Amino acid sequence: MSFLAKFSLLRFKGETVSNSNINVAKFGGTSVADYDAMVRCAEIVLSNPNTRLVAVSASSGVTNHLVSLANDTLSEAERQAHIDAVVAIQHNITEKLTLDADITDGFLATLEAFKAHALTSEFDARATDELLSFGERLSSYLFTQVLRSLGATSLRFDVRDVLATNSHFGKAEPNVERTSELAESALCPLLADNIIVTQGFIGANSQGETTTLGRGGSDYSAALLAEAIDAKAVYIWTDVVGIFSTDPRLCVKAAPIAKLSFDEAAEMATFGAKVLHPATILPASRSGISVFVGSSRAPEQGGTWIEKEKSEQAGIRAVTQRKNQILLTVKSPEMLLASGFLARVFTILAKYNISVDLVTTSEISVALTLDNAPNASRPELDQACLDELSEFCHVTVENNLTLVALIGSEIQLRHGELNLMGVLSDFNIRLICHGASKHNLCFLVEQTESDNVVQAIHSRLLEAC
Ligand code: ADP
Ligand code: ASP
Ligand code: MG
Repeated sequence: MSFLAKFSLLRFKGETVSNSNINVAKFGGTSVADYDAMVRCAEIVLSNPNTRLVAVSASSGVTNHLVSLANDTLSEAERQAHIDAVVAIQHNITEKLTLDADITDGFLATLEAFKAHALTSEFDARATDELLSFGERLSSYLFTQVLRSLGATSLRFDVRDVLATNSHFGKAEPNVERTSELAESALCPLLADNIIVTQGFIGANSQGETTTLGRGGSDYSAALLAEAIDAKAVYIWTDVVGIFSTDPRLCVKAAPIAKLSFDEAAEMATFGAKVLHPATILPASRSGISVFVGSSRAPEQGGTWIEKEKSEQAGIRAVTQRKNQILLTVKSPEMLLASGFLARVFTILAKYNISVDLVTTSEISVALTLDNAPNASRPELDQACLDELSEFCHVTVENNLTLVALIGSEIQLRHGELNLMGVLSDFNIRLICHGASKHNLCFLVEQTESDNVVQAIHSRLLEAC
């Protein structure tokens, strides 16, 4: 962003608000699930005059219906049931609202486009992303109207006009520079007089085709938009009062963490704290934007602030888990004492755009973990990749594993009296990684055991202190 634009002044109700005081708010699926939830979120937006840009998710459940619709083998009746379910979620909201003419036109046209597209005969990656985009496109119309019904001057903005990505449908990567340029010309001028409501999760490639950033990607969108408009903070409003020491649904004694460093939060998100999309922290830490996570149901209860400062607290602060992991082991005895084995394996993985999480290696084999999330918009591992690896090594694939991660600062195997290896020795650990980052220690366990493992670790390492 240019120097001039960065320091341009915006007017707000007689006050002047500089771009660098602006906040971006993001509301997740449960926060915009229905009319009452949307009203709570609108009140949060209006309570802070610096909140000028809002990114919304699809209403809860909608994206799952859209993912189901992208399955070519659905029967006609099944297909219609998913379409009806999406329409019903919208109607439950619209029946409580009077839509302005501009919103009615856009909303109805989008709903009709959704119904027509949902009947597409074959969903390739491109058509799937177009389909998945409808959830956010619809909810953003309705949230704009809810804000207006509370007296705000609010405009819906199509994020595809600014959020530029590559063409990796299903998990597109943003073009940060292009996004900033487009935001400067098309979005920033609107922030002066309007609260802008836009979509999380979606973007467009250079041909203007719709792309998505991967499941849960609205958090990432909000951070990217904040970076593009040079905002001061991103507020991620969700259904929990911050980031907890572990998933509060799993451990009743999980406690919210008031402050996290960018590094710690990024590790937690990467290793399964679903509350934040793993990439959210990237733009925030790159551009020094603070991130807040709180509950749209209970904004008064505060939440977690994620900021640049290094946490003063050494030790373990949280435990996370990511289910549905694949362990891929590739072994090639011919590579003993030869060079280039790892390079060859990783070149193939890169070619198939596979993102690897943990890696352990020996001279002739490498074991790596990949995500196989259910409802992902793109499968992580395809057969063509396995075939190519099999040309020069023996490949085994194990499923139904969970990656458990201890997250914190300066994690060491011994913390005073605490011997981590002693605690871990009670579990049947398939693979362990420690040392590449001082912020985590990760291991794989059987999925059927992982809830128990997380609960036991939380109770022994995080509830005692
Ligand atoms: P949204 O729809 O608002 O994006 P998500 O469902 O993606 O919300 O994320 C919120 C959920 O993340 C919570 O309901 C909680 O169960 C889960 N979660 C997992 N790990 C954590 C954690 N460490 N702290 C808080 N929430 C967590
Ligand atoms: N609606 C998308 C999803 O459910 C993106 C998001 O909510 O962040 O994955
Ligand atoms: Mg989410």
